[in-house]
Amino acid sequence: MVKYLQDHIPKNTQFNRRTSYEMHPTYLTIHNTGNSTSSARNERNWLTNPFNKRTASFHIIIDENEAIECIPLNEVAWHAGDGNGDGNRRSIGIEICESGNYEQTLENAVQLVASMLRKRGWGVDRLRRHYDWSGKICPRLMYDSGKWTGWHKFVAAVDTQLKEVNDILQFEHDYQWKQLGDALDGLYRVGEINDYTWAEKAYTRKLTQSELAWINTILYARGKGIAV
Ligand SMILES: [Zn+2]
Repeated sequence: MVKYLQDHIPKNTQFNRRTSYEMHPTYLTIHNTGNSTSSARNERNWLTNPFNKRTASFHIIIDENEAIECIPLNEVAWHAGDGNGDGNRRSIGIEICESGNYEQTLENAVQLVASMLRKRGWGVDRLRRHYDWSGKICPRLMYDSGKWTGWHKFVAAVDTQLKEVNDILQFEHDYQWKQLGDALDGLYRVGEINDYTWAEKAYTRKLTQSELAWINTILYARGKGIAV
């Protein structure tokens, strides 16, 4: 998971960038910074730079190395261009940097967004583009001349991540992972299963319910003399 840190801009930041308006978010809105060279740190610092004269802000900025929360997620920020509409008033604005290793940045954004949805019990139907609120071509790197190919790929990647992680086994105690790993390791050693990946996935806490159901069924069938 990408490094996530809070570095909130001060409450007295000029141009009303800290609104102090309470927000109960119901959406996550995705942006690109529109700046091909600025990092997350640059963008965070720009919010408090005296030369910045725009009444614009966002909650989270993410790049290839880190995500920085600049405004509390329960406070209104000005990022959606829809005035007092739901974009500004009910959505968390996430800016994706365009600098550096953009592939890595996108991967980080997928992980972050999936984890934010998961925490809230939300699905990808909660995702919006800046474009959805005010028609601005943003996130611009996902635009593809109006086909929004990058956007659809992004949403699909978040959805996949969400489902994968949701399917990972959950145990009350950590030792249960080791126990499961030892069981699969033992089954591998006696030749009952021929792929050590399963034991590794248990030891690293990544085994999913689907995988375990599959392993169990295969082992059960083999135990009955069925050649699978
Ligand atoms: Zn935007």
